[in-house]
Amino acid sequence: MNRILIAEDEARIASFVEKGLRANGFVTAVVGDGMAAYDLASTGGFDLLILDIGLPLSDGFTVLRRLRGAMVTIPVIILTARDSVSDTVAGLEGGADDYIAKPFAFEELLARVRLRLRADRTPEVTVLRVSDLSLDLRTRRAYVGDRAVDLSTREFALAEIFCRHPDQVLTREQLLSHVWGFDFDPGSNVVDVYVRYLRRKIGADRIETVRGTGYRMRVA
Ligand code: CA
Repeated sequence: MNRILIAEDEARIASFVEKGLRANGFVTAVVGDGMAAYDLASTGGFDLLILDIGLPLSDGFTVLRRLRGAMVTIPVIILTARDSVSDTVAGLEGGADDYIAKPFAFEELLARVRLRLRADRTPEVTVLRVSDLSLDLRTRRAYVGDRAVDLSTREFALAEIFCRHPDQVLTREQLLSHVWGFDFDPGSNVVDVYVRYLRRKIGADRIETVRGTGYRMRVA
């Protein structure tokens, strides 16, 4: 089991990241300032640190410099504002493994977390199958039977979350936060629009509407 430390002072983002990681089987802890981030990350009790740059008491760059200075080798993924990506890239020389710009979709963060943790783990499932639909996660290609289906990035991400939770009702909110990220307007109908696109490509019967709640991928 992987333990992930989240250092983020914005409660909304911390909770978005924490909920998503827990739903994917990770054990998490959240800290809201740089001093606590340094203290906990240096205990050796965590496998990965998600580190916001703009933290109170001690900013993310300082935390990272101190950790590397103390020979703490924990993998670090930096969270940064989109308009300060260039500062962040400079900061990566301070020993971060990767960074992600806010706002981000949860799937984007999850992919990076998995990548960082992969090195010493057993290989992950790379093809998801539900009935005759299969998604190759490495090539990002989708197939219905033997027929290749051309999906956009969002459509693929949406298909992927359905295939990871077959026969389970997924709410619009869950789908929004997984595929579009926390900054998306919850009143938006983008989920319904993309479900429609997806149905057109992989077959209308495959995704069932659960009235008032969301959608479910049928298992034939
Ligand atoms: Ca912050």
